[in-house]
Amino acid sequence: MTNLIFFGTPGAGKGTQAELISQKYNLTHLSSGHILRQEMTSGELGAEIKSYVDKGVLVPNELVIAMMEKAAKASWMNNQGVIFDGYPRNLEQAESLENFFKTNNLELTAVLNLEISEEEAKKRILLRGQNSGRSDDNPETVSERFKTYHEQTKPLIDYYTASEKIKTIDGAPDIETVFKNISQIIDQFPK
Ligand code: AMP
Repeated sequence: MTNLIFFGTPGAGKGTQAELISQKYNLTHLSSGHILRQEMTSGELGAEIKSYVDKGVLVPNELVIAMMEKAAKASWMNNQGVIFDGYPRNLEQAESLENFFKTNNLELTAVLNLEISEEEAKKRILLRGQNSGRSDDNPETVSERFKTYHEQTKPLIDYYTASEKIKTIDGAPDIETVFKNISQIIDQFPK
């Protein structure tokens, strides 16, 4: 089973690549942002979640962790490997995910860190904002999302470097090139 974490700044291309890779390798794509946005439009916690997302800050851990574990459990019951996209985003989420793997006798295959300059990432998000309909793809919220990334999410690079699970990929080239480079890395993992 292949279980991956897609990691990177907002706008690095995590969602796009996670979707392509999940199709190619038959993995379940679990995007915390996507799951939260679905909950925002239809769930009873919608208004509360929106208040965090629109500020560009993290939604509280107990909520996100429970949602992601529920989704992951359902996928693993079907014997499908998983791509976590946008999760974990802070130390508590990472530790909780590690415990979850242990308790369920599963293994994290790798963390794929998509690297891109902040300038390029911001350009991409603001371009996407013209069509995405996402209320958080605007200049003010984007700046806050980067601040949140630097303060809470980026330290996870050290956390995963310690376990030697992290692979860094240049996210700057076009979608096809990045996809090919990620595929090459995945093809080297033992089946
Ligand atoms: P994304 O689609 O990954 O860019 O996430 C959009 C927004 O959803 C973030 O700015 C956060 O407010 C929220 N969010 C997504 N993933 C998480 C997470 N793992 N923990 C807390 N909040 C999250």
